[in-house]
Amino acid sequence: GLPELPARPVARRRVSRRVEVGPVAVGGDAPVSVQSMTTTRTSDIGATLQQIAELTASGCQIVRVACPTQDDADALATIARKSQIPVIADIHFQPKYVFAAIDAGCAAVRVNPGNIKQFDGRVREIAKAASAAGTPIRIGVNAGSLDRRLLDKHGRATPQALVESALWEASLFEEHGFRDIKISVKHSDPVVMVNAYRQLAAACDYPLHLGVTEAGPAFQGTIKSAVAFGALLSEGIGDTIRVSLSAPPAEEVKVGIQILESLGLRERRLDIVSCPSCGRAQVDVYKLAEEVTAGLEGMEVPLRVAVMGCVVNGPGEAREADLGVASGNGKGQIFVKGEVIKTVPESKIVETLIDEAMRIAERMEKEGVSS
Ligand code: SF4
Repeated sequence: GLPELPARPVARRRVSRRVEVGPVAVGGDAPVSVQSMTTTRTSDIGATLQQIAELTASGCQIVRVACPTQDDADALATIARKSQIPVIADIHFQPKYVFAAIDAGCAAVRVNPGNIKQFDGRVREIAKAASAAGTPIRIGVNAGSLDRRLLDKHGRATPQALVESALWEASLFEEHGFRDIKISVKHSDPVVMVNAYRQLAAACDYPLHLGVTEAGPAFQGTIKSAVAFGALLSEGIGDTIRVSLSAPPAEEVKVGIQILESLGLRERRLDIVSCPSCGRAQVDVYKLAEEVTAGLEGMEVPLRVAVMGCVVNGPGEAREADLGVASGNGKGQIFVKGEVIKTVPESKIVETLIDEAMRIAERMEKEGVSS
């Protein structure tokens, strides 16, 4: 017979240190968190807080804001205070903004070793200030802004070059006894990125922030991130993730959450099992699946809903789900927990499914199954 395989492909998690990004732990045995970055001007406090509220509603757990100017630095304190989720300041060129972000109460600061030219001399002060405030630092290495010295040495942004940059930067902090660090080594090529993180994971115990940088528009970026994060997380590598898309940040969060749910690293909430449709379909499966998905979005309980185009696999899948429909002859058989509870005309399928889903959700919430 076939060998028994574990139900979940996800390996034991790599053992990493734990850092606290405000109330969200990253690393150790903390669940893998999903983060994103605002696209507003940080100095526009109202617009930034509005976008953070939208991100929070979409399930984002940590948010990063860019800090390229003094006006942005000046806005950090208000944003950090009013945001519902921890705020990380993203600093590229100016060490003085690192101090500003720590003073402003940001939950963490991201620095880019390739870009902070005058960094060397000031690491001691930064380590001291970050340590006193309990603010972790993310060392964010990016292929596009790798240190000239390492580019010359390796010829291009190889996995070795990215890892060497990150570990060198970490060592500057370690010299001052500072280890409240998480690291990223991003590259736009998922294969280079995966190899870089594998090497980094083997070389240190810092928690890792996964990202495929400049991944592209939504479709391409989603696939690149899903493939790369899937490979790494399946090996137990990765403590927090950011999907980068040329799309609104709430989309990044949705994709990130789906990736974690697909790997079994987070409990799935709404799971729509819908057939691809074929020549046997007796309803418009795409439309039905989309309408049911839209109607049930935001459900707070785990629910598996099957939407099937005909009676071949339909009843079987619909029975396996909490709730489902198998269509045929202009009608839909509605299943709840394996039992056909009614048959409704095609025009009533969506509203019947949504009604039944609400009823199941209410019952689950009463029984305390809420995720
Ligand atoms: Fe085709 Fe029916 Fe299978 Fe859908 S459930 S793919 S319509 S056979």
